[in-house]
Amino acid sequence: MTPAADVVVCGAGIAGVAAAYHLAVRHGVGRVVLVDERPPLSLTSDKSTEAYRNFWPGPDDAMVRFMNRSIDLLEELAAASGNVFRMNRRGYVFGTASPIRAGELRTMAETVAGWGAGPLRIHDGRPGVTAYPAPSAGDWHAQPAGIDLLLDRGLIRRHFPYVVDDTVALLHARRCGWLSGQQLGMHLLELARRAGAELVTGRLTGVDVGGGRVTGVRIDGPGGVRSLATERLVLAAGPLLPEAARLLGVTLPVFSEQHHKIAIEDTLGAVPRDAPFLIWDDPQTLEWSADERAALAADSSLRWMLDPFPAGVHTRPEGASPESRTLLVLWSYDSAATEVVFPLPEPPYYTELVIRGMARMLPGFAGYLDPMPRAYIDGGYYAKTRENRPLIGPLPVGGAYVSSAYSGFGIMASCAGGELVAAHVTGAPLPDYASAFLLSRYDDPAYVRRIEACAATGQI
Ligand SMILES: Cc1cc2nc3c(=O)[nH]c(=O)nc-3n(C[C@H](O)[C@H](O)[C@H](O)COP(=O)(O)OP(=O)(O)OC[C@H]3O[C@@H](n4cnc5c(N)ncnc54)[C@H](O)[C@@H]3O)c2cc1C
Repeated sequence: MTPAADVVVCGAGIAGVAAAYHLAVRHGVGRVVLVDERPPLSLTSDKSTEAYRNFWPGPDDAMVRFMNRSIDLLEELAAASGNVFRMNRRGYVFGTASPIRAGELRTMAETVAGWGAGPLRIHDGRPGVTAYPAPSAGDWHAQPAGIDLLLDRGLIRRHFPYVVDDTVALLHARRCGWLSGQQLGMHLLELARRAGAELVTGRLTGVDVGGGRVTGVRIDGPGGVRSLATERLVLAAGPLLPEAARLLGVTLPVFSEQHHKIAIEDTLGAVPRDAPFLIWDDPQTLEWSADERAALAADSSLRWMLDPFPAGVHTRPEGASPESRTLLVLWSYDSAATEVVFPLPEPPYYTELVIRGMARMLPGFAGYLDPMPRAYIDGGYYAKTRENRPLIGPLPVGGAYVSSAYSGFGIMASCAGGELVAAHVTGAPLPDYASAFLLSRYDDPAYVRRIEACAATGQI
């Protein structure tokens, strides 16, 4: 007789593992079957920078509240496990040398603080403001939440002497930091398995539908194709979501972008080991020598390197051991929608461009231009919706659900995303941000107009 599953989850990346954890552990669902053709967490979830933040743009407060919930759950799991996934709360520091951008950061900080990211403290040298709590690599319990906006250049120099000295503002969002996404995922998977969830190796190749509802799935695995009866299916297929949804005859408004990162050894000490997550928030044109500039200008395939690059180059220290000198560095300067192919094509000159970009914020990086350090490069796809919010909830076929399109925030969102999709599947009460992540949000013309207006003014 064909065994039946209470719920099948397609995809054992962080989204699928978190869904299985919430279904099996927190809702006591009997037979949860997690299907993946690859080893767990090995497609996108192990390529992440593993950072988290509750500092999120609009168009409204949904992402701040969703991430606050996810961080609550992460902290709960960290506390219950002796912090097996090494969560810290060092914060995200956004820097700018532009007084105009400093004003925009202030407005954004006021808005996001009003949405629940915690109190805003402005440090502009005037008396009467609480002292700036210096960043610390210590226990996350002892770190503040909220947002510190440093506008006093003396204060910036005192606390961030390694940041370029024309910096006019640093925004330090505090309920942010990083963790080991791999350890988190394996911890959730282990807890789910102990509660009865099963991991099955194979590819979901078919979904049986009767009377407009899911009745079973077909899995192509090592022993051949087998059928599994189930009335509930969760798609957590990461960048392969559109393909998986087609098995249900559903087309989803999701596209993919390539994102890479490098890991280098910081032999020159460009970044202190206890530094927070550091982001340069200004667009920039890269520094080249006159000879380099002439050579690039003469070559039509390389001339783009003389063009302005977008804001957002960032870095953080990696590694728990005191001897570790690794830095992760990322810059998504080319984030056009792209076809999903594996292995990912490596962007040309990525290491050099990222180091040049990071040197704008952290002058110590200039020492890595000649000779260039050996860099380890990897990357994955961000599966995204147009307003960069996930898809979590029911699909148009009865019994089918989605928990995906986690873009560049799937590790940090995993716990609240798993909780939310499990609530949809089991009929448990939904949090008030649930409607922001439904596929059906695009049926509302007013919502679509609002996100188009936000996109046009760069607010999302
Ligand atoms: C360079 C980079 C940096 C990032 N930095 C961060 C960060 O700092 N913080 C953060 O929170 N997030 C970050 N992210 C994003 C995060 O990694 C992703 O959002 C997250 O890993 C997505 O998880 P997922 O489970 O949705 O997808 P995946 O990890 O891709 O998992 C999907 C799984 O589904 C399986 N699958 C698909 N189709 C089928 C099928 N038909 N049958 C069986 N199995 C199937 C695949 O094999 C895969 O294992 C980053 C991503 C990248 C690429």
